[in-house]
Amino acid sequence: MRQVRGVRMDDLEYGTRDKRGNWAPNDPITPAPVFVWPPRPAKFLAWLPHYFLPWNALFFVLGAVMWLFLTPSRETVQTLAWGWIAYLLVRNAALVLIVYGLLELRLYVRRAQGNHFKYNGTFPADKPSDVFLFKSQKIDNIIRSFGTGVPIWTAYEVGMLYAWANGWGPWATFADQPVALVALGLLIPLIHEAHFYVIHRLIHVPVLYKWVHSVHHNSINPSPWSSLSMHPVEHLMYFSDVLIHLVLPSHPLLMLYHLQVTGTGAVVGHIGFDKIEVGKTGFDAHCYAHYLHHKYFEVNYADGLVPFDRLFGTWHDGSKQADEVMKERYRKKKARLNAGTGAQS
Ligand SMILES: [Zn+2]
Ligand SMILES: [Zn+2]
Repeated sequence: MRQVRGVRMDDLEYGTRDKRGNWAPNDPITPAPVFVWPPRPAKFLAWLPHYFLPWNALFFVLGAVMWLFLTPSRETVQTLAWGWIAYLLVRNAALVLIVYGLLELRLYVRRAQGNHFKYNGTFPADKPSDVFLFKSQKIDNIIRSFGTGVPIWTAYEVGMLYAWANGWGPWATFADQPVALVALGLLIPLIHEAHFYVIHRLIHVPVLYKWVHSVHHNSINPSPWSSLSMHPVEHLMYFSDVLIHLVLPSHPLLMLYHLQVTGTGAVVGHIGFDKIEVGKTGFDAHCYAHYLHHKYFEVNYADGLVPFDRLFGTWHDGSKQADEVMKERYRKKKARLNAGTGAQS
């Protein structure tokens, strides 16, 4: 195995590595103790910091920076004009380049922690594939992210700012409706995941999967650049969760935070490493549930915050038991499909 200078964590204390070099954590993923019965208040309180740290706190800070320093004035966005729209496009592209690019650079280009805590034993660059444009997952992912991902994200943002500036929708101020706005702010990651579950389940319907969602699933071994590598129709559906700010009392700060959770936050599921090592320690990336979705396709349509996967039998926590449940489900599905084909012939 490649020796990594300065790395002090031993990933084999936390998991196992098979003959192919694929690493898996010892502990199954624990779904958030939010929608559980009977309620578990002590567990909920112990889990609560993870709802914010590290990712959602980071996205809130990014959303606040956008709102306070990097968004044109209300007068400017009241009228559609190419100048400020192009500015937002460049600003969002720069943010993606920085956040996704730094993670990619550290973990996949410089390979700073080698394959420590890496779920898939190979790096995408070491395995060129015909399914990608120019046979390169990285080039394909980058073209799709910047070609349609960031422009569609920006288009939603432009529309929402224009609506706010012109008084379309129940926009409020923190002075007028503090409780409603704080409540909405706290619920945004949950709203995002519930919406993602619904559209994600929809684009796994075979015809939509074939024409739309398969583009995202080409990256079976995802890296940060895979996060927004989607068909434009999926981009349109994926970012549509922000439209909720035209229905509920909201504020542009919350709308921009929401776009950070959805846009920048797409990277979380596609890091490919269980822990990101920082010096002698490391922090959980929280990406195993979605990694398993890329590996097994019809599990974990959401990440365990909303209860739908558990309710509908598609939750996979990484354990052997979950593997067996999934295989049994796939066997039954295959038998059903074969029976259907037999009945028609
Ligand atoms: Zn994905
Ligand atoms: Zn999928």
